[in-house]
Amino acid sequence: MTDPAQKVTNWARNIDYTAREFHRPHTPDALRALVAGSARVRVLGSGHSFNRIADPGPEGVLLSIADLPPAVEVDTAARTVRVAGGVRYAELARAVHAHGLALPNMASLPHISVAGSVATGTHGSGVTNGPLAAPVREVELVLADGSTETIARGDARFEGAVTSLGALGVVTALTLDLEPAYEVEQTVYVELPLEGLDFAAVSGAAYSVSLFTDWREPGFRQVWVKRRTDRPAVDFGWAAPATEAMHPVPGMPGTNCTQQFGVPGPWHERLPHFRAEFTPSSGDELQSEYLLPRAAALDALHAVDGVRDTVSPVLQTCEVRTVAADPQWLSPAHGRDSVALHFTWVDDLTAVLPVLRRLEAALEPFDPRPHWGKVYAAPGEVLRGRYPRLDDFRALARDLDPAGKFTNPFVAEVLRD
Ligand SMILES: Cc1cc2nc3c(=O)[nH]c(=O)nc-3n(C[C@H](O)[C@H](O)[C@H](O)COP(=O)(O)OP(=O)(O)OC[C@H]3O[C@@H](n4cnc5c(N)ncnc54)[C@H](O)[C@@H]3O)c2cc1C
Repeated sequence: MTDPAQKVTNWARNIDYTAREFHRPHTPDALRALVAGSARVRVLGSGHSFNRIADPGPEGVLLSIADLPPAVEVDTAARTVRVAGGVRYAELARAVHAHGLALPNMASLPHISVAGSVATGTHGSGVTNGPLAAPVREVELVLADGSTETIARGDARFEGAVTSLGALGVVTALTLDLEPAYEVEQTVYVELPLEGLDFAAVSGAAYSVSLFTDWREPGFRQVWVKRRTDRPAVDFGWAAPATEAMHPVPGMPGTNCTQQFGVPGPWHERLPHFRAEFTPSSGDELQSEYLLPRAAALDALHAVDGVRDTVSPVLQTCEVRTVAADPQWLSPAHGRDSVALHFTWVDDLTAVLPVLRRLEAALEPFDPRPHWGKVYAAPGEVLRGRYPRLDDFRALARDLDPAGKFTNPFVAEVLRD
């Protein structure tokens, strides 16, 4: 147990976890005993969420599984990997690549834990790429009584079990589908106007495309285009290539970012924007993100443009990505091909909150689903109406965790009947 006086905070340092105790068990037996012997438990992954999703509250126990053996077991014949839940994508990707295999996609940073990422519906970009949960085929859980349970694809419960907000149990390991390793070349283009934007063509021009803007003008300062070298290349004729290494946050050094200028390299060194050895993004920030139906992308971008005088003063950068529809019941991309509108704000919640409300009002007609790991203002009753399979998830949570040991105020608000 960590000294109770020692504060445990998230990566962004905007959240102090209020847990009574913080434990980092070293063995699976110690983990099971801790879970069985505690009344209220939440797991902390790598702490990259910006809200209280991981906080068990003052009566609860916060657990990190980062000190459990960091298993990464690649089965080259089956093209799968079994990975301990606390392992980060940087280590997972290196191990998988060493076997000539690959994940289909990565988030903007490789610093995040696998279990924590898939629990919140974390995603990268790409019109045919689902969230990071998409390749998951099996989830291993420690349940409230300390017993273990494996839920695999094909099990009727599976579509609730991956993007679970940590509400079912401790995810100790996941098995993921892999594909043969591939190379990606990344080119950044600059100054793409919103006026006349063919969003479907631009976002579909490569395997993964991200558009960045500070909303000081109605257009995009940068477009990050990640092409697989084993797929036909589309000429990106809408904007000019950058002449220096770029960072998505204006003023930050391009050296923190993955290789640009179309130099081909391994998938895991190009799909994230940020290099594993550097602080990702700006470091002093809050983040929000909304997923909405992709068919409404252009209308939604114009709606944000309509409030850009409110948004831009507290904005560091806004990233626009695409995510393929996801069957996971609580995935923000559930059941719909999505566009994801992400906002990296200044690190000042008082200044950001009123802007969030204005932004959410502007996006309201598009039925936006906020990213579970980021800051949002929408009340639970609004969110609950946006998840058609919420009842199925409630039933699964009641079945696996009848006493609500893995619930906290954040989850209770989402699941309230
Ligand atoms: C700089 C930065 C860039 C980001 N970029 C992206 C991006 O590109 N795309 C995107 O979608 N998101 C992005 N995010 C958000 C981030 O991916 C999510 O917040 C994600 O959940 C982080 O994983 P984590 O391990 O830090 O989770 P945590 O914040 O530690 O936990 C998140 C949730 O997962 C649960 N959890 C964690 N581990 C376990 C476990 N073993 N068993 C059960 N439950 C568990 C926690 O209880 C909590 O509910 C970014 C965040 C930052 C700080």
